[in-house]
Amino acid sequence: MVDLSAIRKNHAYLAEYAAKAECAAVIKADAYGVGMREVASCLADTVQTFFVAHPEEGRQLRSYCPEKRIFVLHGFLPHQPDFMVKYGLIPVLNSLGQVRQWRDFCQKAGREHPAALQFDTGMSRFGISWEDMRDEAVKELKPVLVMSHLACADQPEDRANEEQLACFLKMSAAFPGVPRSLAASSGIFLGEAYHFEMVRPGIALYGLAPQEGEKERLISAIGLEAQILQIRQIREGTRIGYGLTYKAEGAMRVATVGIGYADGVFRSFSRGGALWKGKECLPVLGRISMDSLSVDVTGTELEEGDWVTVIGQEQSFAEIARQAGTIGYEVLTALGGRFERFYREVG
Ligand SMILES: *Cc1c(COP(=O)(O)O)cnc(C)c1O
Repeated sequence: MVDLSAIRKNHAYLAEYAAKAECAAVIKADAYGVGMREVASCLADTVQTFFVAHPEEGRQLRSYCPEKRIFVLHGFLPHQPDFMVKYGLIPVLNSLGQVRQWRDFCQKAGREHPAALQFDTGMSRFGISWEDMRDEAVKELKPVLVMSHLACADQPEDRANEEQLACFLKMSAAFPGVPRSLAASSGIFLGEAYHFEMVRPGIALYGLAPQEGEKERLISAIGLEAQILQIRQIREGTRIGYGLTYKAEGAMRVATVGIGYADGVFRSFSRGGALWKGKECLPVLGRISMDSLSVDVTGTELEEGDWVTVIGQEQSFAEIARQAGTIGYEVLTALGGRFERFYREVG
């Protein structure tokens, strides 16, 4: 279940937090697995600018939103400049090579096509370096946006944030008047100095609070339920699941639930993981299978066919991530395509 009104509220909260900046939305990877089409249309009234990672994602998004500005974070491949223009996609130029190719392409076409320029301010992932700034192709470029990305924004104390900020200020000064963007979800909460003219939240739209203090303000937009396929009564000493790693210490009721690692429930979730029925905790027993897992339903009223909660009130996807030793991004983007999805306006 995806709560579209929660996504809208989260966006409104972020937009207000970074009030002087335009609040774009990053909806790459099928909006982190949540559904690009639905997320884009639920934000259509307030968001003018979207970011995706791949040109192909941009083409898809273009078919849902003919009017919006769409930036493509990976830029384009050598054979793709025409593709970008055809679908009105704005590449983020990440290397000197891309800057030159775009220049050559525009010269040949006899007109300027909009592009954004990324600076590497310390993450060594995407973007041109300080030395690259001397290149003629860069000097001639008239980007519609300059941007960079923070490596440690989820750790506000880390000095790398200030260093990257200083570097971004220095590099963007070479393009006076061009809108600037540095902050993704976590960066927004580093404060106004990081907002510039545009912020680019992704995960925070679904309620993942990057920093402790913001947890109450963002609303979790994702719920996930799975069905109990079987319930069995077992005796003391009975073992459960692959590897028979769990052994019952007494008589118990065990439910087999129809969700497994192929659906994005990591195998590491076996250790200390649990599903929920309301406020009742149902600990995972033994290993997670591909399509199912077992939980302890001893002493509950649960029956075969009932639905239990994987992600909900008692357990957000961030908590599942912590439990499984990963991060919320990985849990969200790993959720499989087998679920029936409901998009709702909850509250
Ligand atoms: C993915 C991404 C974002 C959004 O990041 P979140 O942490 O999900 O807010 C913003 N900018 C760039 C360059 C990205 O790659």
